[in-house]
Amino acid sequence: MTSKKIETALIAAGRSKRFTQGSVNSVIQRASSLVFDSVAEKKRCTAGRADGELFYGRRGTLTHFSLQDAMTELEGGAGCALYPCGAAAVANAILAFVSAGDNVLMAGSVYEPTQDFCTKILSKMNVSTTWFDHCIGAEIAERVQPNTKVVFLESPASITMEVQDVPAIVAAVRSKAPDAVIMIDNTWAAGILFRALDFGVDISIQAGTKYLIGHSDAMIGTAVANERCWAQLRENSYLMGQMVDADTAYMASRGLRTLAVRLRQHEESAIKVAHWLADRAEVSVVNHPALPQCKGHEFWQRDFTGSSGLFSFVLKARLTDKQLAEYLDRFEHFSMAYSWGGYESLILANQPEELAEIRPAGGVDFTGTLVRLHIGLENVDDLIEDLAAGFARLSACPA
Ligand SMILES: *Cc1c(COP(=O)(O)O)cnc(C)c1O
Repeated sequence: MTSKKIETALIAAGRSKRFTQGSVNSVIQRASSLVFDSVAEKKRCTAGRADGELFYGRRGTLTHFSLQDAMTELEGGAGCALYPCGAAAVANAILAFVSAGDNVLMAGSVYEPTQDFCTKILSKMNVSTTWFDHCIGAEIAERVQPNTKVVFLESPASITMEVQDVPAIVAAVRSKAPDAVIMIDNTWAAGILFRALDFGVDISIQAGTKYLIGHSDAMIGTAVANERCWAQLRENSYLMGQMVDADTAYMASRGLRTLAVRLRQHEESAIKVAHWLADRAEVSVVNHPALPQCKGHEFWQRDFTGSSGLFSFVLKARLTDKQLAEYLDRFEHFSMAYSWGGYESLILANQPEELAEIRPAGGVDFTGTLVRLHIGLENVDDLIEDLAAGFARLSACPA
């Protein structure tokens, strides 16, 4: 490996001549059947089962191999499995490493569908889930059971943005269960602002739907595994029929080329908005990993190379339904929508009791309404003006 900086690596990754065939970008090779030239060629490709060989569409084409090579290089792994969305990446990464009777240790503030997968699917397979405080450190050792096979992290946490002490967690888990597979949902960092595998994590998962795609118009999931876990992840995902179409794989590869500059702008604008919010009288706390008031800020500072565009803040007041509608229905630049990571700004609100309901390990220690923002690529002053108008609507609309 050379010492290329990340901006350069993002431009070059996955663009070998085999994948581009003379153009700048990787070719879009749409295929189910892939034709063998000879008996010998069929035998060779079948033996390798398309580990980089054209074999059958479900095992990938040049377009997929290009993206897989790029992600493997960028996240420093041994291989990358592709999925039709982030939720499929999470589910299949876990499934690849558990059997009936096993236990999964799960951070308490992970993405809600990840929790639902544990409670609604793993439970049917007699795989138990133990939830732990998202802010846990070395004390996780006490939670590790003899049958714990997977430890699942997400940093920062979904919605509330607590940053985890990953090195402490990894060291503690390894001391008790050296063979347990440690996975992280690394979507917020786009796989590059936090180099999970360098910190001893086995599998780095991303909803590529967010920053890799970057334009809110396609869905994909990625899971980059280290040497120890790659073969098992790859084979299990194949057996589960996990595949993504060539056009979407192409769009994810194309997204990589602008990822660094998009992230830099998301970061700069989000930090500016976060500081502006921190000074507002209506706001009790801003959960942005780059702000000292965010839980785990010190771990972000130590382990991450930057921040992205998603964060949340908590209002002092718990808004009434009427206030919520008055506030949220009339933003000019912030749309109300799930997902994030695209070029556009988004806003969503959660009441504390709604969050408490999806936090099996607790951790909801606030009473005001929480607002989550994704700061897009609009001019940040326009965004701040829009947010200021929102506060003005609130003050004109008493509870
Ligand atoms: C969106 C998201 C997912 C799920 O990704 P989909 O592509 O929507 O299935 C998983 N984890 C995190 C942190 C997400 O934000």
